[in-house]
Amino acid sequence: MAHVVTQPCYDCKYTDCCVVCPVECFYQDDKMLYIDPNDCIDCEACVPECPVEAIYAEANVPAQWQSFIQLNAERSAALKGDGHITEKQEPKEGPECKKVSA
Ligand code: SF4
Ligand code: SF4
Repeated sequence: MAHVVTQPCYDCKYTDCCVVCPVECFYQDDKMLYIDPNDCIDCEACVPECPVEAIYAEANVPAQWQSFIQLNAERSAALKGDGHITEKQEPKEGPECKKVSA
C-alpha cells in the first residue's frame, strides 16, 4: 500500500503536501507531484494538506484515476535524480488546474 497523487494535482502543484511528509517521498516534474510507493509509510499526513484533494490511499483511488497508481510509481522512480521535492514552492496553477478554472 501507498498513497497516490491523482488528477487534481495536474498543473496545480500547490506543494503543501510534500512539506509534511515524514519520509520525504514526493517527486515532481513540470506537471504534477508523485509519491514513491516504496517509501510512503501511509501516515496520511499529506492528505488533508492538499487543497484540491488529489491524494488518496491506493485502495481508495477513484475508478477513473486508477492509472495514477502506476504513474506515481514510474514517475517517482524516473525523477530520483533531480525531481525530489521537500519544501513548498509557489503553486503552478497552470491553465489546466481545476481549482483556478472552477
Ligand atoms: S498539495 Fe495537492 S495539488 Fe499540491 S502538489 Fe500536493 S498533491 Fe498536488
Ligand atoms: S501518506 Fe505520509 S508517508 Fe505517504 S506520502 Fe503522504 S505524508 Fe508521505
